[in-house]
Amino acid sequence: MEKILMIAATEHDGSLGKPALEALAAARTLQQGLPGSTLTVGLIGADVKKGADAIASCGAVKFMAVTGADFRDGVYANDAAAAAALVKVAEATLVVAPGTSRINRFLSGVAQRCGGRIDTHATEIQVESGSPAVTRWYYRQRMTGVLKRTARPWFITVDPGSIEPWSGAAGSATVEAVAAEASSKTKVVGVRSPTSGAQTIKPEAVLLFVAGAGWCKKQPDGKTHVSDAGRLILGFLDKTQASLGGSKSLVDQGGEGETLTFMTHLNQVGQTGATPRHPKGLSTCCHGEEPHVVGWRFVNERRAINLNPSCGWAQGKTDVLYVADAFQLVARVNELL
Ligand SMILES: Cc1cc2nc3c(=O)[nH]c(=O)nc-3n(C[C@H](O)[C@H](O)[C@H](O)COP(=O)(O)OP(=O)(O)OC[C@H]3O[C@@H](n4cnc5c(N)ncnc54)[C@H](O)[C@@H]3O)c2cc1C
Repeated sequence: MEKILMIAATEHDGSLGKPALEALAAARTLQQGLPGSTLTVGLIGADVKKGADAIASCGAVKFMAVTGADFRDGVYANDAAAAAALVKVAEATLVVAPGTSRINRFLSGVAQRCGGRIDTHATEIQVESGSPAVTRWYYRQRMTGVLKRTARPWFITVDPGSIEPWSGAAGSATVEAVAAEASSKTKVVGVRSPTSGAQTIKPEAVLLFVAGAGWCKKQPDGKTHVSDAGRLILGFLDKTQASLGGSKSLVDQGGEGETLTFMTHLNQVGQTGATPRHPKGLSTCCHGEEPHVVGWRFVNERRAINLNPSCGWAQGKTDVLYVADAFQLVARVNELL
């Protein structure tokens, strides 16, 4: 009989983010598909009441939490101690958690401490022939596989954006306090993040706008037009609130002189970059080579603008290819927007 534990860290205001609700939905799928299994929710944070109340009707037999100021910001040693204590008290055999940067940092260490096994980046969790089955991608999203394990406890992290989040009525959850030692000497003294206007990576955006190296190349008049490119791209982002991706060739130019200063390696999409999940994508001035396009695996509707009708996108990698000058086309689209 499986004892399922959903572990999540609350936001600073005590609420649960969308990735936590997605992991909860995955844990519910397991609990509903495995007869006799139980679901426990284990939360970590300064104060978790708001988050626990929001999921009060999720069908968990118990809500537990490690709370206090030491568990607010996501410090490895403290989070790991908290999660290990939750697993122990819940006597969990299956642990499901959101694959956020915070959880990804410590959960494999917790699996080691608990003598368990971990699989990360799950995109689907089901029950197959009475056993949990975890789907994940391999080789930079080129192959997909389904895993089953007999080892317990089995830790599974769910890639954000893969599963429909749990939704249901809020209520009043009774949360059992679990003790854990906060042994870390690290103190978080503040958080610095870009202002929202300067933030170009927006995982929740409907549209991914990808800029390629063509924006910084010599154009038909024999000159580069990098400042025009920057103005057009930022204008488009401002009007559409799209997320900004880049090809490797473009982001690598950061250290090579005249380039788009707002592009960093964090924007890179592809085999050695990110595999974002947006419903739509628009590629501009990017050739569409396989190591780049493999990062578009989870982008459902694809369009590209390229001067070259034989570019990689034309080889069945996009739904629509506009054979056009992206400078002219994006300028016109910005005008219309
Ligand atoms: C191991 C390995 C890993 C890699 N990982 C990645 C990765 O993660 N991500 C990635 O992106 N690449 C990756 N690459 C590199 C990849 O193979 C390509 O070299 C890279 O994607 C090319 O970038 P690009 O298309 O922007 O540039 P280019 O190939 O230079 O293409 C520029 C394009 O812009 C078009 N263009 C120019 N001007 C205009 C205009 N005015 N209007 C419209 N179109 C115009 C041109 O026609 C051209 O097609 C990897 C390569 C290797 C070997």
